[in-house]
Amino acid sequence: MTAHSVFDYRCPSCGLAYAPFKKGVKCPKCGYEPQETHDMISEAIDAWFYHVFIYGRGTPPAYAILSLGDHYILLSCIFLDYYVYELAKGKVDKEHFIERFLAKANFEGCEYLVDHYREYFSDLLERFEALTKGDKRMLDLAKRVAKCVERTSGEDVDS
Ligand SMILES: [Zn+2]
Repeated sequence: MTAHSVFDYRCPSCGLAYAPFKKGVKCPKCGYEPQETHDMISEAIDAWFYHVFIYGRGTPPAYAILSLGDHYILLSCIFLDYYVYELAKGKVDKEHFIERFLAKANFEGCEYLVDHYREYFSDLLERFEALTKGDKRMLDLAKRVAKCVERTSGEDVDS
């Protein structure tokens, strides 16, 4: 079982699918500011913990994207897996980590999404840290997830 979201949204002005994950997040493409927001970050963090509980890592072996929310969940799970992988090795420079992650993602043709995701990932990490800070079990969990990531992926997580 994987965690899924029913959240879908399109900018009423230009039709872009993106998550207004908190108040003040404007459409990355046309700048329209929506009235509604959706707490995508809480949903994504819950999904990560749920997957770690079931699969040993946040990114499931297979994941079907059925909604816009699912797209954010999968990206967030990959992101947090890499983050705890680095965390298990030592201190992580968050800004630098986010930039490396963004550089690896392919935004070709929609470069306007880079700033949107930079803000999203930065908030995601902040929330994740607030939840897990000072919790010694977090480092143990990070180490376990790191081992699992190492075992189950040939991806280059070091560069
Ligand atoms: Zn728009």
